[in-house]
Amino acid sequence: LAKAKGGGDTGSFDIGLKDAEVGKVVTRFPPEPSGYLHIGHAKAALMNQHFADMYKGKLLVRFDDTNPSKEKDEYVENIIADIQRLGLRYDKITYTSDYFPQLKECGERLIKAGHLYADDTPMEQMREERMVGTESRRRGRSVEENLRLWGEMFAASEEGLKNCMRIKLDMSAANKALRDPVCFRCNLTHHWRTGHEYKCYPTYDFACPFVDAFEGVTHALRTSEYKDREAQFYMILKLQQGVWPELPNVHIWDYARLSFVYTVLSKRKLTWFVQQGVVEGWTDPRMPTVQGMLRRGLQLEALKEFILSQGASKNVTYQEWDKIWAINKKVIDPVCPRHTAVEAAGRVPVRLSGGPAAPEFIEVPRHAKHPPAGTKQQMRSSSLWLEQADAQALSEGEEVTLMGWGNAVMRAVHKDAAGQVTAIDAELNLKGDFKKTKLKLTWLAQSDDCPPLELQHFGYLVTKRKLEEEDSFEDHVNRASKEVVAAVGDANMRSLQQGDVIQLERKGYFIVDRAFSADAPQQPIVLLNIPDGRTK
Ligand code: ATP
Ligand code: MG
Ligand code: MG
Repeated sequence: LAKAKGGGDTGSFDIGLKDAEVGKVVTRFPPEPSGYLHIGHAKAALMNQHFADMYKGKLLVRFDDTNPSKEKDEYVENIIADIQRLGLRYDKITYTSDYFPQLKECGERLIKAGHLYADDTPMEQMREERMVGTESRRRGRSVEENLRLWGEMFAASEEGLKNCMRIKLDMSAANKALRDPVCFRCNLTHHWRTGHEYKCYPTYDFACPFVDAFEGVTHALRTSEYKDREAQFYMILKLQQGVWPELPNVHIWDYARLSFVYTVLSKRKLTWFVQQGVVEGWTDPRMPTVQGMLRRGLQLEALKEFILSQGASKNVTYQEWDKIWAINKKVIDPVCPRHTAVEAAGRVPVRLSGGPAAPEFIEVPRHAKHPPAGTKQQMRSSSLWLEQADAQALSEGEEVTLMGWGNAVMRAVHKDAAGQVTAIDAELNLKGDFKKTKLKLTWLAQSDDCPPLELQHFGYLVTKRKLEEEDSFEDHVNRASKEVVAAVGDANMRSLQQGDVIQLERKGYFIVDRAFSADAPQQPIVLLNIPDGRTK
């Protein structure tokens, strides 16, 4: 199977589209507005963009809104915003519901041509019959009877509500998707766009081939687990073309669905996490949604590179999160500013002799190898903070390096009865060689200007590495997926803006989720840990 050539934003697929002509290709990204976009949708969106670009064609965005029970304005708005975030360049946004009149007309023509029949077989029995390949006793209904029931369905009468419309494909086919799928069904729920105008809606299986052809989509990209349904798509389209001769052909091109370890990627399941309050919402940084992941510090560039590196494979494999975060690290590390923080709990005061009598401020780069990151002020004084964990590792008389300053000798390490370090006396030794010290310590000069920080660390939302079809994901929910650590940061951090990415010395990468506010200086700056792709 072909792989993407190299990484990078412009990676291309060896496999092209069948019968694709430069300038004539039309692809489409068809989200159902039943949730926010997740990383799997991002793959679908970017693949469609990729092929539209490759053939200098067009990309359409179409909301597949044929099921009023699941759809909401909130989802439409957020999907549009997410599409913008992903930088998709689309020709236009359409809605399957725009075509309800044509779909209804097409349904009617197909009834007249003898291809649809109304069926009131109870659901269980219908499923059973489909399993074994038995024809419904309603399959032979007359055109007149079917037209009458069609009217009843659109009127949502008692009789109409008992029926659905099925399309005659092939009840004896080995492929069960061909055993007369349902093509229209009643639903009395308010439709987010057409309100109560319709009481009967086309199914996705019926609407998709029609609307693809009607809009002039030349290549419909679909995930390969629906391979079984490909024949159904072509058969339904052929019948539709029989009654609607202007409909052109559409090619299906399938590719692997994206899956990740320790993750559910389905709007239905993600909705559950939101509704149960396991997460704060669709934009929670633990969510595999586009908004959740960008909030967590994933850079768009890294997301695109990861997706294009997947190549054109049709094999569904579970991806490791480390892979995408390692790509992300390569993007952020060369440019993100460096700052310093000390954990609040048990922090140890250090009395430093030989240092400045009054606090000094030294202008230092925010990133040693990236001057555009600017400079920051390092405060030096005779009263410092060290972290308890670092202080625990010290021995009296030991020479250590205070990072970004110089060496110091630990003269006295004071401990309480429980072994906690309560204070340290140290002496600065700027002539000391930092190459000879074992410990390089993070420190902060004590100051009222050091802002409080809240460092948030996240785990996976599910506890099982690979959730199988038969697993119920509700049994594998990680209820402890968030850890919060209080810290203090260097005073420069007060000017960070929401969305800024930084590295905290010896702690890793973080993104600012809530910036410092001069009006509420005691309210902590909220920093979310960005994984760096190294499994801890
Ligand atoms: P979900 O169960 O997550 O809602 P879906 O396929 O029902 O998935 P749609 O809104 O219909 O959701 O999907 C929009 C497009 O994104 C479709 O073309 C679909 O095939 C594709 N897509 C959805 N999930 C993935 C995934 N995990 N990997 C790749 N493409 C996906
Ligand atoms: Mg779908
Ligand atoms: Mg779904």
